[in-house]
Amino acid sequence: MRLRFYYIVISAFALMPVTGCKNNSTLQEPDALEVASESEVFLTPKEVEASGIKWTSASEHNFPGIINATGKLDVPPSNRADVSVMFPGFVQSVKIIAGQKVKKGQVLFTLENPEYVDLQRDYLTVRVDYSLARVQLDRQTKLKADNATSDENFQKAESAFKMNEVKYKSLRKKLEMLGIQPDEITAESISSGIPVKAPIDGRISDIHIFRGSHLSSSDVALSIINTDHLHVELQIFEKDLPNIREGQKVIFTLPHHPQKKYKATVHQIGNSIDPETRTAHIHCHLDAVTDGSHFATGQYVDAEIQTSNRERQSLPNDAVVDIDGNYYGLKLIDSTKNNLHFKRVKFELTDKDDDFSAVLLNNKPPEGKFITSGAFVLLRKEG
Ligand SMILES: [Zn+2]
Repeated sequence: MRLRFYYIVISAFALMPVTGCKNNSTLQEPDALEVASESEVFLTPKEVEASGIKWTSASEHNFPGIINATGKLDVPPSNRADVSVMFPGFVQSVKIIAGQKVKKGQVLFTLENPEYVDLQRDYLTVRVDYSLARVQLDRQTKLKADNATSDENFQKAESAFKMNEVKYKSLRKKLEMLGIQPDEITAESISSGIPVKAPIDGRISDIHIFRGSHLSSSDVALSIINTDHLHVELQIFEKDLPNIREGQKVIFTLPHHPQKKYKATVHQIGNSIDPETRTAHIHCHLDAVTDGSHFATGQYVDAEIQTSNRERQSLPNDAVVDIDGNYYGLKLIDSTKNNLHFKRVKFELTDKDDDFSAVLLNNKPPEGKFITSGAFVLLRKEG
């Protein structure tokens, strides 16, 4: 690349009669580039071919209106779960590591407490009492129909059944909350450890436990975040709000990776203004092409919301050279068999994106042909 540019400098230099300087042996010296400040460039077709100089005319290009915004990646509340335990215990084993993907119902860790044994034993006892009370009540109901039992005996059986039913059902509920299936408990299966399972699909985001740590019912053991529906939550200024519409395209970058661009779409526009920051929230969804698998919630983003489209006569960025805040190009004036004549022109830049510059030449869209590849070297004045 460098070599080619040097070659262009030599060619331009050697063939520029207006300079009156034919000494091109010291091309690295500032003098060599001083030539570039002259407004005319003459090249032979041979030199053009060898140096790779190209030119083109302006074409229509679409420039979106841009609103800059900052924000962060987030998930809806339903896609986030803090895992805590109903009953305190000691962590027996941890089955997952931070960042791991888990399925709903997967065992995350096991918790140990002798009280769990009591609970399961009580349940087995109450289960027996409860079924006996039911048998008793059924019998009394039949006898009562035949007028073969006293009211007192019947009422005794009925209240015994009801008491056992309350105990039985509340213990079942408790066990279910602990993650133990009551119907699967047998005298042999009673265990002091209980599995704690994932309430949602997702990825483990924080782990606050290790083997042996004590968890009380107010502690959060770990968090799970499901990033399947990751949002970009942007903040925009009040003054920009009228220009935002649902469906507008959003390009965003992560601050530590500004060169990698991701796409999203405006999905919902907040209808309240924060009284302190005078900003509104814009809720955006990632486009299908955006791979968000390595994103994390809470990550900050810089975003551009593309608000409107403007068609402009434009040249490739290579054709428009910024010299101290002024924009120049090289326009083809004349081409003969032996000579190509270019003239330096000053543009007015009206729009720019990664590839194209919309420019005006004498307040009009630029007409004619302009050097693209090579213009920088021919125009740029060093220092
Ligand atoms: Zn959403």
